Amino acid sequence: MKEDILGVNVNTENYDALIPQLFRNIDDKKKSLIVAINPEKLMKAKEDPELKALLNRAEFQIPDGIGVIIASKLKKGNITARVTGVDMMDRIVREAARTGHAIYLYGAKPGVADKAAQKLKDTYPALIVAGTQDGYEPDSEKVIQTINKAQPAILFVAMGSPKQEQWIEQYRDRLHPTLFQGVGGSFDVLAG
Ligand code: UDP
Repeated sequence: MKEDILGVNVNTENYDALIPQLFRNIDDKKKSLIVAINPEKLMKAKEDPELKALLNRAEFQIPDGIGVIIASKLKKGNITARVTGVDMMDRIVREAARTGHAIYLYGAKPGVADKAAQKLKDTYPALIVAGTQDGYEPDSEKVIQTINKAQPAILFVAMGSPKQEQWIEQYRDRLHPTLFQGVGGSFDVLAG
């Protein structure tokens, strides 16, 4: 279910309802993109119709910021709790470890994605990390090939917004992973 928040469709479900939908799509080989919606992004989207359209084209828009919850409350909507980008990533990683789906971390400064991957593996020993790549490689063709060769089912991209969403949208048809999430500064948070 989606609800219009300032012209952007936002999912109303909580983590427990979203996770099965996401993994069903993976198993059906249906590509999906998750974008985190917060007031900052809504303000940017208000000024930038192209960005608004991009956010609306994503298969999932999660209510990341408390401002989105307040906006929903004010219009007597159904979004009652935050679904943050970093927590969503954690839930996805946990389910990926349980079900044997490999993940790939793309973004942040050199060394950060590696450290984040190690932290995730410490938490979820069964997790398969297909690979990592820092977010400063200018040759996207090379990045696409490296990711596809590693064969992850899930790709997390941490290059800040909207850069990460634009990158995913531009290349999603050529990328083999089926689930994509733009996760902003999450690798830095995980790496500590
Ligand atoms: N970043 C990157 N490549 C770039 C620009 C930024 O990998 O060309 C990374 C940067 O190192 C940082 C993240 O993107 O890890 C941006 O985090 P930020 O918290 O600014 O993103 P937000 O959550 O605000 O979208």
